[in-house]
Amino acid sequence: MSLIVQKYGGSSVADAEGLKRVAKRIVETKKAGHEVVVVVSAMGDTTDNLLDLAEQVVPIPSGRELDMLLSAGERISMALLAMSIKSLGVEARSYTGSQAGMITDAQHGSARIVDVTPRRVREALDEGAIAIVAGFQGYNRGTGDITTLGRGGSDTTAVALAAALNADVCEIYTDVDGVFTADPRVVKSAHKIDRITSEEMLELAAAGAKVLYIRAVEYARRHGVLLHVRSSFNNNEGTLVVNPTEGENVEEPIITGVAADLSQAKVTVVGVPDIPGKAARLFTIVAKTGANIDMIVQNSSTASGLTDISFTLPKSDAQTAMTALTAEQAEVGFTSLQHDDQIGKLSVVGAGMRSSAGVTAKLFTALYESGINIEMISTSEIRISVITRADTINDAVRIVHTAFDLDADEEAVVHGGTGR
Ligand code: ADP
Ligand code: ASP
Ligand code: MG
Repeated sequence: MSLIVQKYGGSSVADAEGLKRVAKRIVETKKAGHEVVVVVSAMGDTTDNLLDLAEQVVPIPSGRELDMLLSAGERISMALLAMSIKSLGVEARSYTGSQAGMITDAQHGSARIVDVTPRRVREALDEGAIAIVAGFQGYNRGTGDITTLGRGGSDTTAVALAAALNADVCEIYTDVDGVFTADPRVVKSAHKIDRITSEEMLELAAAGAKVLYIRAVEYARRHGVLLHVRSSFNNNEGTLVVNPTEGENVEEPIITGVAADLSQAKVTVVGVPDIPGKAARLFTIVAKTGANIDMIVQNSSTASGLTDISFTLPKSDAQTAMTALTAEQAEVGFTSLQHDDQIGKLSVVGAGMRSSAGVTAKLFTALYESGINIEMISTSEIRISVITRADTINDAVRIVHTAFDLDADEEAVVHGGTGR
């Protein structure tokens, strides 16, 4: 008998019909002779709606209370799903994150899993029941409070449970047929990737392909969990995320996929004295705010010995970082700060890039020929990212997808969801 963890995203359980459809699918898996643990997200846009509601009450809500609020979304779907399964004559029990033993640190809104003790889930399985676990939430032992894992965090719940229960596979059910060469909502000619290495998947997830949450990919890689991303709307094979063993022959296309990220902002520190120690000082100030800096560019020095330094970071971190910098402006000695939240990051990812020259030239040429200006550049061994204007990002993704010969003949299908 194999143990399968199935995760259903919000778009798969958007309404009562969706819940019933998913319940049938879960029961089929159980009847095929498997042990089944299900991780479920909040229905449809519930999390976004709860966030909007909180914002109407108070602009910056307390982290503890926000987590209490958001974790309610998954409690609704887990209970409804368990009811629906029971109505089909199969025993099912729902568990909150804390009941399922998802122990996290105390970082509200972006808690990290520190331990998984799924004793009650194991007991339910041993008694022949299906265990339904609320995704995205955990519990901190020190504070005794409920935490959430960050947007898209139900993927991580599923992977962590799969690792702790030694599951044979962790299936991520969503509203598209798997991981595509680009977001199929943006690029109609994107095609499904059958097998992708966890290394490439990590880069794509980090670059904004929200089909899988980056921390879930990291966790799966570290614990050797086999991930299968597939649609809950049909029975097609999806995408396998694999950890190739040494010597195994995995086809390595030069470019595996293109991703876009609109969640970042750019801060420019104008007129920084170009002397040793200033950059260190600036980035120490920003680091203390907990902001996650992505790209950095320093202009060449002017005759007056001043330079500008630009960096990108999540939009939500920009204000705090700017406030911290302003507080120390006199001491560091820069002239002013500029803030730009109309940027987009485009990335191309592919393990084959390592052994192939000319990828950068091809990328830059495609963007140049379409009149798209590149403002910043960063690279890793298997990724090239550029910053452009936000309003040109979707065009840029389509142009680059075509330039690297990734276009399929058939149109990609998106089965549900609002893409919010
Ligand atoms: P769920 O509700 O199942 O968690 P998400 O909205 O988090 O679903 O993720 C699925 C969505 O990810 C798709 O509808 C698609 O628009 C988007 N997406 C972005 N990049 C990709 C990609 N490379 N492959 C597939 N889907 C992608
Ligand atoms: N419901 C949460 C969110 O919308 C977690 C998830 O769906 O993975 O981000
Ligand atoms: Mg998701």
